[in-house]
This record gives sequence, structure tokens and C-alpha cells, in this order.
Amino acid sequence: MLIGYPLGHSISPAFQQAALDHLALPAEYTTMPVPPRRLPEALNGLRGGEFLGANVTIPYKETALLHLDGVDPWAASIGAVNTVVKDGSTLMGYNTDAYGFMTSLKEKAGFEPRGSSALLLGAGGAARAAAFGLAREGVTPLTIANRTLARAQSLAGAVSPGGGSVSAMAMQDPALAATVRNADLIVNATSIGMRHGPDEGAAPFDVQLIKPGSLVYDMVYTPAETPLLAAAKRAGAQALGGLWMLVLQGAAAFELWTRKSPPVGVMYRASQEALASQEARK
Ligand code: NAP
Repeated sequence: MLIGYPLGHSISPAFQQAALDHLALPAEYTTMPVPPRRLPEALNGLRGGEFLGANVTIPYKETALLHLDGVDPWAASIGAVNTVVKDGSTLMGYNTDAYGFMTSLKEKAGFEPRGSSALLLGAGGAARAAAFGLAREGVTPLTIANRTLARAQSLAGAVSPGGGSVSAMAMQDPALAATVRNADLIVNATSIGMRHGPDEGAAPFDVQLIKPGSLVYDMVYTPAETPLLAAAKRAGAQALGGLWMLVLQGAAAFELWTRKSPPVGVMYRASQEALASQEARK
């Protein structure tokens, strides 16, 4: 089950169901739009029924923590859960977003985090997972830039309480230009560039600054080629969109629920088909 609000265009049901069907598991992945006041009730409802668990998405990744019986230490440090696993009537929270992000970064883009520099744009739920994942795997220095500076500062402080090589800046800061030019990795974890969003067609910074040979990672996965990724390719940088992250965080959740090895190729193909059919309907 997917719990969030609203739940407009999620493709998680398509690729999770494809995985369940592929392994002939008699289970259904459903969606449950839950308005804010009803989150405790919705999570509590998981305890009684025949559920394996749930995914939790916007806007509940942080608040869901408060309504679970236990939280995996990694999810607790990140401060957000996207996966709930039911064991008897006990609900445990996990965060598979960081795994999905880091695994796609290393395995699909061949990126070596240790000793590389990174600029992370955004300080919301997706950026939190990325920041903790990058810092844990040795990215240095890590700069977190956000429209609202206070959120970037708070995230940088949480990732590296002693300061160290994690710093924060406002996205509007003129010093962002030099950080873009020097970064081995640039990650967009804002919603800028997302199809049908308020900033469709836009990029989060002046794309002329992208350094050839760097890696530009856009967590946005619709469109498959965002303006940022198109510019990165033109600049001679490597470009990776967010679809692999989405599928790999889902595959890790699937494994936690079912204790079976997830059919990742089946899930990736189903996610592409779901996106294509959404596009065809518009
Ligand atoms: P969120 O918690 O709502 O955070 C949104 C972030 O975008 C905040 O940092 C916000 O800045 C920034 N932002 C929004 N509009 C902006 C604008 N016009 N200019 C500058 N900054 C702007 O959302 P989220 O869950 O972190 O998701 C962020 C993006 O990542 C979304 O596009 C989402 O689809 C994508 N995502 C992808 C995956 C994946 O698996 N590929 C997983 C999760 C999320 P402020 O703090 O200033 O508001």
C-alpha cells in the first residue's frame, strides 16, 4: 500500500504489482490517499489487516516516524521513513530512499563517492536521504544549497553536527556559481523541472556553469530528460535521471516486505511502461 496525500501520478503501484505478479505472490499493492488529520488512524489500520506493510510518501515521510513502534537506526538518523514493515501487529519504519539514490549513483552512473565533491540542491525529504547517503560514503566537501537557507543549514547540521566538510548556502547566493563549477557531482533534489509542476521547463541554476566530465543527477524522473539533464549532456557532463532511484528504493522495500529477491529488471520495465502510458493519456 502507498500512503500519501495527494497521490496524483505515482507509478509505484505499477512496478510493485509487476514484481508481486512476476513472483506469483498473492498480494495487491494499493494506494491510500490520507488527508493529514487521518495519518495516525491510517497507520494504525495496518496493524489489524492482512498487510505486509506500506510505502509512505509526501507529505508524511517525517511525521510517520511518530506513529510507528520502532525505526531502523539509519532511518532514525535520516529523520524520515518511506517504508513501513508489519511484523505481527508491530510496525517498523525504514528509509530505502538513501539506498535507492546511492545505489543508482554508483551502479548506474559509476560514481565513486569517496573523496569526490558534491553540490546538493534542495533540503526536503529527498535531499535528506541523499545528504546522509553521500556523507556516509565519504563525499567531501558536500554543499547543500536550498531556496530557504534555514532548511539547508538545519540539514547540514544534522548530517555533520561538528560542521566538518558539509556546508549550507542559499540557492540565490552568487557563490553558487563557483560551487557548480567545482563540483564533481551535482544533484537536483528540488522539484524544479518536473513535468506539470510550477517550474516545468526550468533548471535550478545557470546550466552554462556545468563542468565537462562532472556528473549531473536529477531526482526528477518525469520527463526522462529534464532541462538540467539536457544541458548537462550538451556541456559534456554525464547525466542520470531519477527513475533508477525510484525503482531501487521500491525494490529494497519489496525485499523488506516479502523477504524475496526483487525482480529489479521487471520493476524497471514496468515503471517505464507506466510513465509512457501516463504520457499517452495526456
Ligand atoms: P519536498 O520535501 O517538498 O522538498 C522540495 C524541495 O524543492 C525543497 O528543497 C524546496 O525548497 C525546493 N523547491 C521547490 N520549488 C522550488 C523553486 N521554485 N525554487 C527553488 N527550490 C524549490 O519534496 P521531496 O520529497 O524532497 O522531492 C523533491 C524532488 O525529488 C521532487 O521532484 C520529487 O519528485 C523528487 N523525488 C524523486 C525520488 C526518486 O526516487 N527519484 C524520490 C523522492 C523525491 P524550499 O525548502 O525552499 O521550499
